[in-house]
Formats: sequence, structure tokens, C-alpha cells
Amino acid sequence: MLLAGPELADKDTVAKFEPVIGLEVHVQLKTRTKIFSHSTHRFGRSPNTQTDPVVLGLPGALPVLNQRAVSLAVRAALAINCKVNRFSQFARKNYFYPDLPKGYQISQYDHPLAEHGWLDIQTGSGAKRIGITRLHMEEDAGKTIHDGFSDSNRYSYVDLNRAGAPLCEIVSEPDLRNAEEAVAYLNELKLVIQFAGASDCDMEKGQLRCDANVSVRPRGSDTFGTRCEIKNLNSFRFVKQAIQYEIARQAAVVTGGGTVVQETRLFNTATGVTSSMRGKEDSHDYRYFPEPDLPPLIVSGDRLRQIREAMPELPSSMRARFTSQYGLSAYDARVLTLTAPTAGYFERTAKASGNPKAAANWVQGELMGALNASGRSIEDSPVSPERLGELLSLVDKGTLSGKLAKAVFAKMFESGRSAAEIVEEEGLRQISDASALDSIIHEVLERSPKQVAQYQGGKKGVLGYFVGQVMRATRGQANPRLVNQLLRKTLDS
Ligand code: ADP
Ligand code: MG
Repeated sequence: MLLAGPELADKDTVAKFEPVIGLEVHVQLKTRTKIFSHSTHRFGRSPNTQTDPVVLGLPGALPVLNQRAVSLAVRAALAINCKVNRFSQFARKNYFYPDLPKGYQISQYDHPLAEHGWLDIQTGSGAKRIGITRLHMEEDAGKTIHDGFSDSNRYSYVDLNRAGAPLCEIVSEPDLRNAEEAVAYLNELKLVIQFAGASDCDMEKGQLRCDANVSVRPRGSDTFGTRCEIKNLNSFRFVKQAIQYEIARQAAVVTGGGTVVQETRLFNTATGVTSSMRGKEDSHDYRYFPEPDLPPLIVSGDRLRQIREAMPELPSSMRARFTSQYGLSAYDARVLTLTAPTAGYFERTAKASGNPKAAANWVQGELMGALNASGRSIEDSPVSPERLGELLSLVDKGTLSGKLAKAVFAKMFESGRSAAEIVEEEGLRQISDASALDSIIHEVLERSPKQVAQYQGGKKGVLGYFVGQVMRATRGQANPRLVNQLLRKTLDS
């Protein structure tokens, strides 16, 4: 949704321009402690309870690189097909802001950890490869809190719990051409980083944050326009809204004979509008220089090999395997690899049941439905994959009809009991025994002389009515195929 406004171009004007978009994504690495010191960085703790002399920038305190953070950053780099540099270097990025006590951020500059990667995304017109310029490591800043206090009209507060949390920044090439592609790229990036185990990428906890660089150029032009960088995009929906707004704004500026100013803009989540925050700084404004308190980061060939060998399987390979090994459709394979826990759950169910297609249907259907309805994640599903697998085998053996299985599943989900227990205790077994059904069928036919006459007069559709009556009389436990057969035999004889 775009707000109408004098500063936005209409649809036809926008269509005359080609947007160019590059994303800078910050991902918080899944370590226990900070990148250069021993404090933890858990989300939601009381302010300033996770600091130490390094984080506070006290004189004489020295940073020590967290090697776990390095390993996770290397995993992230491999997941996005980057070349990992044997030599990289930390650098001081100097700027003043209250959430940065040292007066500089330790980042990487001209020697980043990794470069030259790519990710394939699905677009409306097929697959597209998006280039990734670089991945570098850096420390996070703290948070300034501007409201919520009785004296917030006069003061801002600073919480340093997040300061020094380990980040990797992933910078894309300006290869994206509309907001949908940007969102597709972010989704794929999030997925591979999660599968690689480098970060949970929980946006609500700020573990994945995105700045969008946007410019427009007249369609057909092959030079880039001037870009604006939009900050503060903490959901994919906002990324999309902000990019669309910015495209329409820049198209209006250019069409009106103006020029786009290179600047940093802030997205207002309440109004959906971007507004100028400050002129865009150039890198020389930061007075970068190599961090004298840290030696260069060397990732040896051995270490790189070890990390590569221990890499978890990534979504693209898993999708391909799900279609070839289990015969799933491309669609099912995609849905089942939307999160690592979902993929794991599916595979265990497929193994336990021996019926991968049924497993795929049940995980996407009944299980997801029940999880959504109860607001639970698949990781704390009350039904384990092994138990779901057991239920599916009972269907394959004919002990349960599909319909009964759904009823049993609902009870499993509610009580945590196994399918076999429920079938046993509640006598829910499917009736597949002709002699047990015969008497019920006769009863039903005796009760319904009118319908029998209709059937025998040629209205074969009435059969459905009889099937329904038998199913009701058996509380849904009769084998429907057998009921059909027996009814036909009895009525036609
Ligand atoms: P900075 O720190 O100045 O923002 P970076 O190199 O970190 O520079 O990021 C630049 C980002 O802007 C990259 O994602 C790049 O693809 C993108 N970009 C560069 N030029 C343009 C442009 N003309 N239009 C849109 N995006 C651009
Ligand atoms: Mg930037």
C-alpha cells in the first residue's frame, strides 16, 4: 500500500523508470558472548546488565576476537557462495554516537572476511542470480531509548546490552530490480543463514536488519542513478513498502526536473513514508584505519576445510534431494524446506512411516494446521515425527481410514498419546470385516424403503446416502470402500 501524496509519481510515471536496488543486511551471529569480550548478549535482559570494560570502552581494555564468531561468519560466507579470504583485517570506523562508547566501531573495511558470492532467487520470470559483493564482521552498537521514561522529553537513555554483539554484514550487488526481488533475496538469504546455523535471523529480536539502497533510471538507460539509503527496516513488509515508496518518490523528483540527492533516509513504519535523516556520508568521513589492538584475522586452509566439511546441508541441495530421493513435487520440496526444523521433521516422519508422500501431505496439512491453531512452533510439537510416522503406517496397513486417522491425530496432538494407544483404548480401529458390516447395511436398508425404491428405479446417486448412513452407524469406522462394495452387491442382487 502506498500513501498518495504530492511527492509521489503515479503508476504510469513510475513505469517509465527502472529501479536499481542493493541491500546491506546485518545478521547477528549465534554466539553466547560478544565479538571482542566475555559478556553475553541475550535479548530482553534488563538494560546494561551485559557489559564489561571492553564494551564500555574503558581505557586500557583490549578486544580479543571470539573464535566462535569467526567460525559462524565463515559458515555464513560459505552458505552464500563467497570466497573466504585467508587474510582479513579489522578496522576502526570512527563516528560519534552515544550508543558507541569507544567513539569508533570495530568493523572490516578494505580486507573483508569474504567476497564474490551469490544467491539464486525465484522471480516472476524464472530464476535469477544476485551477486554478493562482500561479507565482513563487525561489532553491533548499543541502543538509544528515546521514549517510555517520565523524563523522555528531556533525556534519551542508552542500553549497551547489544553493544559488541557479533554481526556479519552482507552487501549485495545492485542487481535487484524491484521490491519483490528484494524480498525474495532476503527470504533466501535468511533461509541459508538459518540452515548454516550461523544465526536464527529472528527479526523481532533484531537478529536480521536491513538497509536498502534504491535508485531509479529511465528504462533503457545503462548508467545508475543516484542512490538513497533507507535505514530502520525491521520487517520484510517494511522493506517492500519503503522501496516502493522510494521508487515513486525518486521518479517524481526526476520527472519534475529535479535531481535525487544522495542521502540516508529513515522509514516511518506508522506512515509508510521515508524522510531525509542526514546527508549520506562517504567512506572517507569515517577515517577508517586498521585496528591496532587486533592482529590480522587469518583463516587457514585447514580451518576453512574443517568448517566446510562440517557444514549442514543447505536448502537448495535439500530441495533437490527431496524431489529425487522421496519423489516429492518441486512445490512440496520448497514448502518443506522453509525452515530447517520443518525439513528435519519431514525427513524423520518419512523414515518412520516408510511413506514419504503421505509424510509430506500430513506435515503440510494436519500438522501445520494444528500447530498454527495452537500457536506452537514445529520444534515443540506435541506429536513427534516418529509418532506421526506410526500413525501413517496404521493407515497404510488399513487399521485406520484417512478420516479416522485425522480424528486420531487430533487426539494425539491434544494428549500427547501414541496412535496405537488411542486406537486401542478408544476402539477406533477401521472395520474392514464384511460380516461385521453386513448386519449394519441390512438395518440401514430396512429403515430406508423409499431410498431403496429410488435406487432400484435407476437413481444410482442414492448410494451416497446409504454410505453416509452406514458411516454414521459405525461412528466413521467402517472402511468406506468396502461399504460401497457391499452396498452395491446387496442392492443389485
Ligand atoms: P555504504 O557503506 O556507503 O552504504 P556499501 O558498499 O556498504 O556502501 O553498500 C553500498 C550498497 O549500495 C550496495 O548494496 C550496493 O549494491 C548498493 N548500490 C550501489 N550503487 C547503487 C545505486 N546506484 N543504486 C542502488 N543501489 C546501489
Ligand atoms: Mg551503507
